[in-house]
Amino acid sequence: MSKLTRRTFIKGSMAVATYGMLSENVMAQMYSASSPEADRLGKTFRTVCTVNCTSRCNLNCHVQDGSIQSVTPSVLPGRPDYSNACLRGMALPLRTVSEERVKYPMLRVGERGEGKFKRISWDEAFDLITEKIKESQERYGKQSVGLFVMTGNLAKFAWDSPFRFARTIEGTSFTPEGIMSDHGASMGMDLVYGQKRGSHDSRDYMNSKTLIVWGRNLVDTHTSEARFYLNAKQNGTKVIVIDPRFSSTAAIADQWIPIKPGGDTALALGMMSYIISKDLHDKEWLTQNSCGPLLVKKSDGQYLKMGDKFCVVDEKGKVVASDTPGVKAQLSSSVSYQGEKCSTSFALFQDSLKQYTLKWTAEATNISEDVIKELISDYLQSPSAIRMGQGMQRVYNSHSPFRTVATLAAVCGYIGVNGGGASHAGGTSGVNPIPGINVPVFNSSPWADTGGTDASKMHGIQIYDMISKADPYQIDFLWIASSNFLNQSPDTNRVINEVLPKLSFIVHSDPYWTYTAKYADLVLPTTNMFENWDIFDKTPWIMLQQPMLKPYGESKSDIQIFSAVAERLGKGKYWNRTDEDWIRVYLEGSKHPAMAGFNWKKFVEEGMFVRKDGRFDIVNAFMDQKYKTQTGRFEFYSERLKPVGHELPVYTPMLEDPKGPLGKKYPLMFIQYHDRTNVHTQHIGIPAINGIFKEPMLEINPVDAAKRNIKHGDNVKIYNDRGHCVVKAFVTEGIMPNVVAIPQGWTPEFFSDGHYQTLTHLTINPVETLVDETNFAAYDNLVEIVKA
Ligand code: SF4
Repeated sequence: MSKLTRRTFIKGSMAVATYGMLSENVMAQMYSASSPEADRLGKTFRTVCTVNCTSRCNLNCHVQDGSIQSVTPSVLPGRPDYSNACLRGMALPLRTVSEERVKYPMLRVGERGEGKFKRISWDEAFDLITEKIKESQERYGKQSVGLFVMTGNLAKFAWDSPFRFARTIEGTSFTPEGIMSDHGASMGMDLVYGQKRGSHDSRDYMNSKTLIVWGRNLVDTHTSEARFYLNAKQNGTKVIVIDPRFSSTAAIADQWIPIKPGGDTALALGMMSYIISKDLHDKEWLTQNSCGPLLVKKSDGQYLKMGDKFCVVDEKGKVVASDTPGVKAQLSSSVSYQGEKCSTSFALFQDSLKQYTLKWTAEATNISEDVIKELISDYLQSPSAIRMGQGMQRVYNSHSPFRTVATLAAVCGYIGVNGGGASHAGGTSGVNPIPGINVPVFNSSPWADTGGTDASKMHGIQIYDMISKADPYQIDFLWIASSNFLNQSPDTNRVINEVLPKLSFIVHSDPYWTYTAKYADLVLPTTNMFENWDIFDKTPWIMLQQPMLKPYGESKSDIQIFSAVAERLGKGKYWNRTDEDWIRVYLEGSKHPAMAGFNWKKFVEEGMFVRKDGRFDIVNAFMDQKYKTQTGRFEFYSERLKPVGHELPVYTPMLEDPKGPLGKKYPLMFIQYHDRTNVHTQHIGIPAINGIFKEPMLEINPVDAAKRNIKHGDNVKIYNDRGHCVVKAFVTEGIMPNVVAIPQGWTPEFFSDGHYQTLTHLTINPVETLVDETNFAAYDNLVEIVKA
């Protein structure tokens, strides 16, 4: 493949079509973000930043003469302490009027990947899509048309539109979480809590003696929450960061504990083994709230039941139903019941933990026994909290780390108590409400549901096999919306050489010329968050996006585009409103009590609706000790994972482990991280940001660099059997030995050669198919480095 830079790609496209806005216009968009300056500016619009950084900041955009002059944080009703905006959100207007935008519908005229396009009209584009959809559906069946969306725009209607269109045409839609490498966290949480999320309010960390931030760099990735961690630290909470990298979050912590990638499960198991062996576990909490006292049959590993009741052993050694009034259940016990040998799940767990000695844990994690003991001692200061990040779950058995670390918190009795908790994502109750208490009204309700036709819903992780092997059926036409799929998905060379060539037609709808656009047959310009109507339900606030700028070039909203194609396919009845009207009808039509008093006109004027049942106080998950698991308890024992030996939390090495067969050839563990100037690919190349962080560099420890005669700033080649890339070396003790890291999201034009996603792989894990869906193991790769 000949090398194309972003500039040559855009210029190649411009050879056939002219772009309106050039860089001097971009520079003219530079603005001041200070509030006094903002006050002197023109009309102010409230909006919400819907890139996928999880903060969803509410912003005031000050518009004058048709351009955004400044962006400032807006004040949130009920939460004056929670006014946020970061450099990325404030810089987005610079990308809005930039050479990065797609201006017209563009049809490929060269080879896929060559980057040659010509301008066509919207009518021509809609007719062509209609024809190609019909062709694929006639040839391979209705499901052969796939709609793939990632998190480029998390506003509700932009996000739901591809799903609704897939239903409209009875095509296929895909779950994005697994292929985005985010699904292990959800699976791990689901196993123990019975739900994928369950947030502990960050403000509550003021009440924690110790806060362990585990595999999470929130200072860079969840910026809006960082203040609460600092407040806690200033209030005396000891903040400990566990991470292979000395991240920005580690820099503000009291202690950084570098851990070998993939060692998180091992560390939690080792800590639990030590705590239980010293009889320091919270027996009362475990007995009352966990599956610990429930009996498990030796014969098949399933819970013992009397009818539909789970069973325990009472203080006289008798087997009774767990809900027997006044029963004093034994936490650790073994009995025979009707000829069946049974043990409590805690007894099984206690036994299984014996193998995870401190010595073993130190070897598996690369953390010394003394540091592990000190960590245990800090964590046993009651109450203590753990906040987990997605970093730890980007491994082959991705369900294990979250499940095991949450179990550590349960063993210490910290779940559902103030100052405790073990959760991921979320933050304050406004960011990730507590299920059952303050559930978003709209994000989870199915606008995508047409009420008529339906789509085939498949796991995104299956998309490669569906396209290249028709397994389990053929995807022949792919529409990629709001996603730089090629840049963010595993094993780029496999995608380019085996997957994309099997597709008859590829549509890519996005505001920007992405890496993925180069391989599309038709590129459609969509509006962005400053140009269209949409909403985001960030409970307790429903936030509005409304057009404050004219659509760039001939851009259209997702709703407008899908409506036009649906009409041509004879399905216009499912797409018969304007964007504004869809949102109005949707909100006004809600019967949810939270929406009492909703008025559309006022909503548009104020840019926000505060739901009537909104809570602004600190609300933590599981305070009622109710869990949606099959036992109704915190479940560290999983029946469904018995067939694969994962019924209890268990350590498994990385798929690509330095101690395994590949380690001799490729001794370095290759991980990625999210840097503070970019959310995935969305801020790459924005001039104001690019001036700070110009290119991706490979973080490498001085020990590993010296072995390879690599000096800071040298060009280095990172490679394995799947691919390679060339970048400059950043020699630093901020990354532990034997591990190298690169910031994720950077696009190929910022690499001297290759791309970091050529080093990754997509390997289906049969264990995780029993949990739910395999997760892309983004940080489970071995590589070698040489001077380029
Ligand atoms: S990118 Fe910045 S402004 Fe946008 S939601 Fe995230 S923290 Fe807020």
